[in-house]
Amino acid sequence: MAIRNIVKEGDPVLTKVSRPVTEFNERLWQLLDDMEQTLQKAGGVGLAAPQVGVLRRVFIMDIDGKHYEAVNPEIVDAKGIQEETEGCLSCPGKWGVTRRPRRVRLKAQDRNGKWYYLHGSDLLARCICHEKDHLDGVLFTEHVIRMVDEA
Ligand code: ZN
Repeated sequence: MAIRNIVKEGDPVLTKVSRPVTEFNERLWQLLDDMEQTLQKAGGVGLAAPQVGVLRRVFIMDIDGKHYEAVNPEIVDAKGIQEETEGCLSCPGKWGVTRRPRRVRLKAQDRNGKWYYLHGSDLLARCICHEKDHLDGVLFTEHVIRMVDEA
C-alpha cells in the first residue's frame, strides 16, 4: 500500500468525467488499498479516484467506523433535502453549506465486480453525492448555497 498525492482544486483532472471500471483485477485492488491509506492519513470521510489523479469511476468512504468501496456507482433514488456544512480534501480550508438529498439509494459494484445496494441518510447520503459528483468532474463548491468561514 502507498499513500498517494491528493490533487487540489484548479487541477483540470478534477473537472473531467471518469471512465467506468471494466476489469476487477490487482490494479483496481491496489488503487482501492492506496486510496484507503491516503484517506486515513488525510483524515477525511470520502475520497474519489480522480482526487488521486485516476479517472476511473471509483470512490471510498470511511463513516462511523465503516469502510465503503463503490465501483461504477449510480444513485438510483434520492429523497428529502438536507443543508449541512461540507468540505473536500481537494479544497483545503474551504467550507460551505450545500443542499443535498436527505436519503439516497446507491447501486455500485464491490472490488470483485459484485453489484450491491446501499441506503444512505444524513452524512452518508451527503458523502455519496459528493463523491459521485467527483466522478462527473463536479466539485462541492458548485452545490454551495453559502460559504462558511473556517472556525
Ligand atoms: Zn471532495
